[in-house]
Amino acid sequence: MAVQSQPSESSLGSLEKARQQLAQAGALLDLPAGLVARLGAPDKLIQTYSPIRMDDGTIRQFSGYRVQHSNILGPYTGGVRFHPNVDLDQVTAHSMLMTWQCSLVGLPYGGARGGVTVDPYQLSEAELERLTRRYTADMNQVFDPKKDIPTPDVNTGSREMAWIMDTWSVTHGFAAPGVVTGKPISVGGTMGRRDATGRGVILALQELLAYKGRDLTGMKIALQGFGKLGRAAARVAQEAGAVVVAVSDITGGIHHPDGLDILDVLEYAQAHRFLKGYPKAAPISEEEILYLPVDVLIPAAFGGQIHGENADRIQAEFVIEGANGPVTPEADVVLEKRGITVLPDILANSGGVIVSYFEWIQDNQQLFWSEEEVNERLKDVIARAFAKVARNVQERGLSFRMGAYVEGVGRVAEALSLRGLYP
Ligand code: NAD
Repeated sequence: MAVQSQPSESSLGSLEKARQQLAQAGALLDLPAGLVARLGAPDKLIQTYSPIRMDDGTIRQFSGYRVQHSNILGPYTGGVRFHPNVDLDQVTAHSMLMTWQCSLVGLPYGGARGGVTVDPYQLSEAELERLTRRYTADMNQVFDPKKDIPTPDVNTGSREMAWIMDTWSVTHGFAAPGVVTGKPISVGGTMGRRDATGRGVILALQELLAYKGRDLTGMKIALQGFGKLGRAAARVAQEAGAVVVAVSDITGGIHHPDGLDILDVLEYAQAHRFLKGYPKAAPISEEEILYLPVDVLIPAAFGGQIHGENADRIQAEFVIEGANGPVTPEADVVLEKRGITVLPDILANSGGVIVSYFEWIQDNQQLFWSEEEVNERLKDVIARAFAKVARNVQERGLSFRMGAYVEGVGRVAEALSLRGLYP
């Protein structure tokens, strides 16, 4: 099926925006300029040109990236994205956000990010497997269970993580489940990882609502993006009593003002791969979904979706950043003025890396937990992180974004100061 092209995050200058937000947090924390500059620069940037043989016998090469932002708190970790818009600017920005996220939720990890500039929809499964394996081989000295642990992101999931784990294990001569997280259960994955990011988004939303003295029951939700994150978030939200009125994917959206039957929509998307053609709701464009009169809007597809030009059209009372950077700094200002609360990505979508951490612990100990145990621990970690952010909001009058940044950046800055500079 042909799919339309997507907005480029890189044209929005992701890295510049991430540095702007870091500078704001640095000012609030009273950090010296040199320290802020250090935190704004990644440790290492690795770029590869991975060649693969296509099914028709021709050879093509693809740009691959891994940016390691900071390992001050522990090994690097972060998602690998397969998408035509992947570039160094975007990967570097996301690696930085990953550092703040791990720090904010108290994980002993540093931030990294990776990806390949490719439209995976244009490749056969065999080509995609060869590309994933070649990218892994080219990152053979970069990925390591003790140094840098890749995880799923846009257009990569448990299948790709299994290929990465297998390639790395074969080339190193031993089975290394801990070299990636987000793997299938049968090769050392954890219960609860598939739904973790989406579940975490709804847990964070519930914390926010409790803080505001509100309740999720009956609240209307619109969700942009119906991939790994969006599907899990929609199902968990419905189970928790919310009414999901609209969802969208790359083929467009569907809307029912009285609420969609998410299990039925999931079955349709499973069978047809995309939402297009779902018969029991009205079609709606991927942009219109942002402007619906709902209580909660969850952008869970791509960055830069809510910006200076469209922020005044948002009607939701709460915007929960499922995707990375869906609300630009310009839009933040407009939404704040309009009294719309934005729960930032580094808190809202932390469920994925939290359960990845649980997976890594289980792999290293060879001792596996039940799904209930995973979900309970996830809830605890998110509640603790939310409480720290809420304290900053209440005591210092900060936005939730700056409340989260001050916490995330502050812990890394403190560790960096204590460890000192080598040599
Ligand atoms: P995915 O590849 O599983 O799904 C992406 C979804 O977005 C798909 O449904 C796709 O059709 C849809 N989409 C693409 N372009 C769109 C458009 N223009 N309008 C509407 N929908 C569009 O990816 P995912 O893992 O669900 O990740 C989604 C977002 O969440 C990304 O920003 C990712 O970085 C972030 N995130 C994911 C995780 C994770 O563990 N998967 C963790 C943290 C953050």
